[in-house]
Amino acid sequence: MSEIRFAERMDGLGTEGAFEVLAKARALEAQGRDIVHLEIGEPDFPTPANIVEAAHSAMQHGATHYTPAGGLIEARAATARYVAKWTGAAEPDPMQVVLVPGSKNVLHFALLSLVEPGDEVIYPDPGYPIYHSLTQFVGARPVALPIRESNDFRVDVEELRSLVTDRTRLLIVNTPGNPTGGALTRADMEAIAELAQERDLYVLSDEIYGRLVYDGEHVSMYSIPGMQERTILMDGLSKAWAMCGWRLGWGVMPQELARRFEKLMINTSSCAAAFTQMAAIEAFEAPESDRSVEVMRAEFRRRRDLLVEGLNRIPGVRCHRPAGAFYVFPNVEETGWDERSLADSLLTEAGVACLWGTAFGPYGAGHLRFSYANSVDNLRLALQRFEAHLAATPAPVRV
Ligand code: PLP
Repeated sequence: MSEIRFAERMDGLGTEGAFEVLAKARALEAQGRDIVHLEIGEPDFPTPANIVEAAHSAMQHGATHYTPAGGLIEARAATARYVAKWTGAAEPDPMQVVLVPGSKNVLHFALLSLVEPGDEVIYPDPGYPIYHSLTQFVGARPVALPIRESNDFRVDVEELRSLVTDRTRLLIVNTPGNPTGGALTRADMEAIAELAQERDLYVLSDEIYGRLVYDGEHVSMYSIPGMQERTILMDGLSKAWAMCGWRLGWGVMPQELARRFEKLMINTSSCAAAFTQMAAIEAFEAPESDRSVEVMRAEFRRRRDLLVEGLNRIPGVRCHRPAGAFYVFPNVEETGWDERSLADSLLTEAGVACLWGTAFGPYGAGHLRFSYANSVDNLRLALQRFEAHLAATPAPVRV
């Protein structure tokens, strides 16, 4: 049989290190090895019972069919009310909200709708790998905006300004951020907004971890005056309500853009699952749902503190205390290891699965990413294994 000839555009498409490491870890487990999973960006809590019940009841009452491409009008309206409540912004029209099967689609559709081949897209590095991957996939040029530990893993707005050119079309911000947990302050958001207005840029504001902030406030780009007309707010149920597998995200944007998103939905998924949309209304509007988010947030905070303190006690490791999300991004340069070899040997020899910083871009060098979406007991075990591994295994000689 002749070899399959793939389209050239597939060459630029990346993946997520987390899926790669998870597959390796599962293979080791199949051989009987015990692995602590700190590679996964998924809450370990069950979805709140009232939300599961709402979906169940919706299914029983017939929410098992296609919906309009942008979502059921009642779910879009509930999302608009939720966005206004949590961001403090003026309530958007429901037709400015598009419901999609996972917030990743918001990014993809924004790039497809707004960016021409050859245009530049500025994205955070280290950052969620899909920003770079999808930008390349649509033929645009990804421009890395360094996110530095020395700047509390926030955006340096002057550096950002220096990266904007006449070809810059879209700016991606992510607060709190994956993989660092760094959160942008109100002053940061205002300065970014000013720049976007000055240079006529669209901002894709990925706020999927916005409900998981432990110190300070979450500031939404959508709430900054003048920004509703140039912001695509990207959010979803996955992280705050422990609903990664339900696949529901939303974009909020100017209405003409929302119409393009609907067209893209018609050409791809048709719609998000009807009963998942009904579950979203329960997530947004039932007081129990908010209480569940608060319980999870308090537990994540406890784990963050335990992990940061434990990591800072390990010789050669320095860990900044992140403001949000459920990741820490310790600096391991002083251990003598490069981050990739260290992550590999932690998995294969010590039984701790984590990601290496450069899986999130070149500016992640010298760091590891640990997710604390795992129990306190497992975090303690991972810390013990990490410390023992460093003490027992000399760093490989670098060539
Ligand atoms: N944005 C960031 C920063 C993420 O870390 C993730 C998932 O890990 C997503 C978006 C995608 O989430 P969803 O499940 O809504 O597609």
